[in-house]
Amino acid sequence: MQTIEQPIAPREDKLLDTTIHRRKTRAVKVGNVTIGGNNPVVVQSMINEDTLDIDGSVAGIRRLHEIGCEIVRVTVPSMAHARALAEIKQKLADTYQPVPLVADVHHNGMKIALEVAKHVDKVRINPGLYVFEKPKGDRTEYTETEFKEIGAKIKETLEPLVISLRDQGKAMRIGVNHGSLAERMLFTYGDTPEGMVESALEFIKICESLDFKNLIISLKASRVPVMLSAYRLMVKKMDELGMDYPLHLGVTEAGDGEYGRIKSTAGIGTLLAEGIGDTIRVSLTEAPEKEIPVCYSILQALGLRKTMVEYVACPSCGRTLFNLEEVLHKVREATKHLTGLDIAVMGCIVNGPGEMADADYGYVGRQPGFISLYRGREEIRKVPEEQGVEQLIQLIKDDGRWVDP
Ligand code: SF4
Repeated sequence: MQTIEQPIAPREDKLLDTTIHRRKTRAVKVGNVTIGGNNPVVVQSMINEDTLDIDGSVAGIRRLHEIGCEIVRVTVPSMAHARALAEIKQKLADTYQPVPLVADVHHNGMKIALEVAKHVDKVRINPGLYVFEKPKGDRTEYTETEFKEIGAKIKETLEPLVISLRDQGKAMRIGVNHGSLAERMLFTYGDTPEGMVESALEFIKICESLDFKNLIISLKASRVPVMLSAYRLMVKKMDELGMDYPLHLGVTEAGDGEYGRIKSTAGIGTLLAEGIGDTIRVSLTEAPEKEIPVCYSILQALGLRKTMVEYVACPSCGRTLFNLEEVLHKVREATKHLTGLDIAVMGCIVNGPGEMADADYGYVGRQPGFISLYRGREEIRKVPEEQGVEQLIQLIKDDGRWVDP
């Protein structure tokens, strides 16, 4: 007789747990911001100005920082760009305030990385591109000796940078990209999450051999399932090896518009919900300023950071007693500066109060022409619809929770 295996039900207390338990990571300082440890998930982005354009870059960094981007990345394709960062940093300090800066160093960038390490708080290297391996057209495999030889060359090249960052108390991001794995990794592990993880581990081990642990790891891919798998595998490996490095999450080349945002959220949000991730960047093919609200929305939706008012609103249906879209818009315009509050706008009294998800205040359709205002689950007053928003503000004022915009 065939038996059907019953899935083991998750324990009841796990099912009822509504908090995200973040993976324990070490705290890594990047200028005046700390990634990992017990710190909130850090938001970062990247300017698209040419780093040689000092004034443009300073303005771009400032624009991002002013809207909540906590760490700003710049690209450093040449030595001149690396030197320009000294001036950018100085100008920021003189005309604005110090902003934690990360420099992205790519192709064969050892000398550039060494120069830029003097001026920024974190250097990002891509293991796939850091040491150039000349591709051999007729290659069918990498021998273990060849693999080790290149490994030794990487160590030799990376060492001065590691020592410089270590001695200055600065950080490094080991940023693996699925699209740019080293040929050696491709031959050995294939174009797989495993190849990405091994690539990161090889660099981590070099850093550890030099007693440098100010590391942040990323394993980005433009395909969400690949990215999810790589980060999960990385966590598993790090747990096995007793490593606690914070993770930087991102979906590369996510594109633009609605789909770019959804794709980024699917990747970043899924991992954050599992407790994985200490800093995030949403990469959009749009102005970098557009990335920051998306980061904050992901974090707010998961309850990881509270940077705006949380609005709970029903989708409306045949029972709806007022123009919900219009009222939600009005309520939002009037209250969006009251960061920390949860406000519900619900179409009817039948289901509205029960579904307000413990909002601090509720605006609920009562009967045609009238709405009810709630504080938590308690109905406070019934008012004519045209006074609804004004009376909601009054209620918040009466409770001493109003601040002027
Ligand atoms: S709260 Fe009322 S109006 Fe809104 S969707 Fe539910 S039943 Fe419809």
